[in-house]
Amino acid sequence: MVTEEKVVIINTGGTIAMELDETTDSVRTGSVQPLHSVGPMLQRFTQYEMIDLFNVPSPHMTPNMMHELSAAVHRELSRHEVSGVVVTHGTDTIEETAFYLNLTVPSDKPVVFTGAMRSSNELGADGPVNLIQAVRVAAHPFSRGRGSMVVFNDEIHTARDVTKTHTSNVATFQSPAYGPIGFISKKEVSFHQPPNRGNTYSLDGKLLESSGHPEVPVVKAVTGMNPKWLQYLLDSPIDGVVLEAFGAGNVPPTIVPVVRTLIEKNVPVVMVSRCFNGYVQDVYGYEGGGRQLRNLGVILCPDLNAQKARIKLLILLAARLSITQIAAEF
Ligand code: ASP
Repeated sequence: MVTEEKVVIINTGGTIAMELDETTDSVRTGSVQPLHSVGPMLQRFTQYEMIDLFNVPSPHMTPNMMHELSAAVHRELSRHEVSGVVVTHGTDTIEETAFYLNLTVPSDKPVVFTGAMRSSNELGADGPVNLIQAVRVAAHPFSRGRGSMVVFNDEIHTARDVTKTHTSNVATFQSPAYGPIGFISKKEVSFHQPPNRGNTYSLDGKLLESSGHPEVPVVKAVTGMNPKWLQYLLDSPIDGVVLEAFGAGNVPPTIVPVVRTLIEKNVPVVMVSRCFNGYVQDVYGYEGGGRQLRNLGVILCPDLNAQKARIKLLILLAARLSITQIAAEF
């Protein structure tokens, strides 16, 4: 059904915009943007406009590029005739960019991310169908108030909960803790969870000031950690740290002195879990256990993965929140 409203598609690159080069047997960006040929099929569902903002593999994305994309999406959503925006993106980092926009685009209108696991000229290319499904979701009235979503393989996931779980399978995107919030069939877009997007934050261009965004490294806990590995955190002017801890939120005792020093230097330390399911909690009272870390001032982030906790922390830092305010937002 054709309506007066339109969806704006913003392309940023990724496999969905790439092709297989048979001479080198490698996937790369070609001379033509293949998504332009999918466009006419979309007219069965809605009017659309297509903008080529970037054409990068998603490992090349940066928070500053996310910021630029966020501003572009906000601009398009401010147009009264635009019902939603679709962003095409590489799958490797789509969850970070989608979550960035979830936290920074204040509009009630949907922002729907999609991509592909197989490039445009490969057998079973999934880009065209994913794009069509994403546009159908962006045009749907029940998509409002849900923030950023990732549409892939007929499923709708929140930007907050979705993660890439497989290196090559087209069913790679899963929300391990809570599941998809809806699905797309031949005839319908259906949601089976109510909207629950969380807070948004205004950065007013602050992320792009001076040399770039805040420095927030991610440190993963492993057995037998040598605190010397973390010396960089103490020697460099970092703004925050995400600690990917074991289980419910525990680290080797060897790194507790580093954590203590960071906190004494007023560097926020946010703790997530290596587990992709369940909550981080201050359960254990031993050396390096969650209770000790919490008492030291570590901020417990219950259920975001490390890459998303980092995105959130750098947004909160760029928004100039104090450590107490940052703790309250996690
Ligand atoms: N490496 C690719 C990228 O993220 C993977 C993809 O798009 O599926 O750009």
